Amino acid sequence: MSSRLNDHLTEDQLETLRDKVLAEIERIETKLAAENMHLNIANSGRDEVDSANDDIIKHSELRFTTRETLYLKKLKKTRPMFDGDEYGICEDCGSEITFQRLIARPTSTMCIGCKEESERDELQSFHGRKSKSLGQQINLSARA
Ligand SMILES: [Zn+2]
Repeated sequence: MSSRLNDHLTEDQLETLRDKVLAEIERIETKLAAENMHLNIANSGRDEVDSANDDIIKHSELRFTTRETLYLKKLKKTRPMFDGDEYGICEDCGSEITFQRLIARPTSTMCIGCKEESERDELQSFHGRKSKSLGQQINLSARA
C-alpha cells in the first residue's frame, strides 16, 4: 500500500527533514525580523552627518540579508514538496536522493551525481575553452 515515489525515505526520516526545513524557516524569519527592527531604529535616530556612514553599514547588512533571503526562498519552495511524494527525488534524473545528503542540505533537489555534473558544467563555462597553446608540449627528449 505504501507506494510513494520517495519510498527510500521512511516516514520518520521525512518527518525529521520536514521539521528541519520548518525550523530553518523560523530561524531565518526571526532573524530577518530582528534585523529589520534594528534598521528601523537606526534610521529613526540618525543624524544627517552620519547618513553616508549608515548607508555603507546598511549596504553590507543588506548583502548578508539577501543571501539569507535566497535560502529562505529555497526552503519555502521545499516545504510544500513534503505534501506530495516528490521530496527526495532528483529533479534532473528522477533518482533517489539519499537521506544523508538531505539531512546535510534539506533543500537539495538534485542527486549528488547530477549536482556534480551541473557544477562541472558551470565551472567549464566559467573558465571557457582552454587556450590551445597550453596543450602544446615541447619534448626535449625526443632526439635521444
Ligand atoms: Zn540525478
